[in-house]
Amino acid sequence: MPELPEVETVRRGLAPAVEGDVIARARVNRPDLRWPFPDRMAERLTGARVIRLGRRSKYLLADLSTGETLVWHLGMSGRVLVSGRMLGDYVHDHPAPAKHDHVVFDMGRGARITFNDARRFGAMDLVATDRVESHWLLAGLGPEPLGNAFDEPYLVARLRGRMTPIKAALLDQRVVAGLGNIYVCEALHRAGISPRRKAGRIAAPRVAGLVPVIRQVLAEAIEAGGSSLRDYRQADGELGYFQHAFRAYGREGAPCPADGCTGTIARIVQSGRSTFYCPQCQR
Ligand SMILES: [Zn+2]
Repeated sequence: MPELPEVETVRRGLAPAVEGDVIARARVNRPDLRWPFPDRMAERLTGARVIRLGRRSKYLLADLSTGETLVWHLGMSGRVLVSGRMLGDYVHDHPAPAKHDHVVFDMGRGARITFNDARRFGAMDLVATDRVESHWLLAGLGPEPLGNAFDEPYLVARLRGRMTPIKAALLDQRVVAGLGNIYVCEALHRAGISPRRKAGRIAAPRVAGLVPVIRQVLAEAIEAGGSSLRDYRQADGELGYFQHAFRAYGREGAPCPADGCTGTIARIVQSGRSTFYCPQCQR
């Protein structure tokens, strides 16, 4: 499942192909993905200029000249392909129409944006731009982990008294938006905090120390172009999968890479999901 760095990577790859350009033709090949598309979505998108492509948590937000914003979630295995003429240069030939190409945007400058989503966990909706923050998918989200509102005093206050494991607390999208299983495991490993520790029982300075670590882990992943699991493609249209080097995630049985640690990465299941951590240096 794409996490925040992967969505940000898609946003950065997509922005040059769409920002400032008009959606000359929007094609919607089915009535729904995870949820029904909004009424007349293709008609409402066709002819709209994309003013800005932003992101909130794992949602892409395309602000349109019509006063609406396209809210777009990539789902579990959604692929965004950019093809055709873009900014005067040929980048990728249009792919042959494929099964699961559910939404296609032909842009005025010649780029084609194809959203292929085999499992159909993706979503698109249209909402008035001035009400986007109150959209039902976005209204309950906590601060952006890379934004100014996510700081040490905030996290310490938010986790005070919480008796859930720290891993579950960080996955709670109301606490911080956009963190998923992979980067929570990575951040806790780097911070030396056991994923099993109750959030409210961790000393405040250690909780505060999670803030720069979370930012660093995410920033590094974005810098690396986003990591890629399963059949996820990069937004620039390349077919190659980017494989990010994780320190703990997916490394059960491997030596712990922390400086001076002789431990072994272990896997446990928490709330039905795998947690990877080092029982020796994560306390
Ligand atoms: Zn270790």
